[in-house]
Amino acid sequence: MNPLIKANAVNMLKQYQIKRHSEFDLYEIMNAEGLLIQRVYLENSIGSISYDSRGGIVSIDANITDEKQSRFIAAHEFGHFVNEREKSGYFRCNGEMIFGTNTNLTLEWNASRFGVELIMFEDWFLKFIKGKRFGVQLIKDISDYFGVSLSSSALRYAELGYTPMAVILSQNGIVVWNSINKSFCYSWIPKGYKVNNLSYAYDFFEGKEIPDFPETILADAWFLEDRTYRKDHFLLEHNIPMPRYDAVLSIVWEG
Ligand SMILES: [Zn+2]
Repeated sequence: MNPLIKANAVNMLKQYQIKRHSEFDLYEIMNAEGLLIQRVYLENSIGSISYDSRGGIVSIDANITDEKQSRFIAAHEFGHFVNEREKSGYFRCNGEMIFGTNTNLTLEWNASRFGVELIMFEDWFLKFIKGKRFGVQLIKDISDYFGVSLSSSALRYAELGYTPMAVILSQNGIVVWNSINKSFCYSWIPKGYKVNNLSYAYDFFEGKEIPDFPETILADAWFLEDRTYRKDHFLLEHNIPMPRYDAVLSIVWEG
C-alpha cells in the first residue's frame, strides 16, 4: 500500500484538528476544502468529481439511497481530489472502481484507500474494537459506528483486527474478491473460485435460507487449493447475504 495515501488522510484530520471520531464530519470537511456535493442521476457511474486545485464538484448518483454507500462514494471522490490535487482532474467512477479491490486501477484503488483511512482512521478503529469479541455482530457495530458498509467494515477488520480471518465476497456463485489477514492459517483463494457446497454461502446461491450465526465448515469449502490446506480442519463461517447484488459476504475464521 502506498504510505502517502494514509499520510494524506492523517494530515487532513490534523489540519482540521479532529481528534475524535465524534468530531468527524466528512461532508463538512469536503465543503471546507472547496468541494460542493450534489446528488444527481448519473449514467454508467455512481460518483464523479471535477476539480482544480481550489475545489470542485462531487456528484453522487441519486439512485443510491443507502446513506452509508453515498458517504463512501463521497469519500472516494474526495480521495481523487486530495491524492491528485496538484492538477485539475475529472473522474467518473463506477461501483467496481469504488467498492472493488481491483488493484490494477491504481488511482481508483488509492482514492478508496484514502476513504477507508479517513473514515475508519486507524487509531479510532483500534480503540473501537479493543476488548470486543469478534463476530458478525462486531462487523455490524463497526458499520453503524463509522457509517460504512458491512464489506468495508469487514475488510478493515481483516486488516487491523485481532482475530485472524478471511473475508470473501462472492457474486453469482463466484469469488469476486477476498481479503485474508496475514496471521490467518490460509492465504490463498484463486480468482474466480466457484463457491462449493461445503460452504453455507453455496446455499445462498441455491436460494435457500442461510443461518444468521457462525457455522462450522471444513477448510475444503474455501481453501482446497491453498498450499497449506489441511484435511479435516474445521473453521467457522458466518455469511452476510446481499441479495440486491446476488452476493454474499463470508467471514471465515478459526473457532
Ligand atoms: Zn474514482
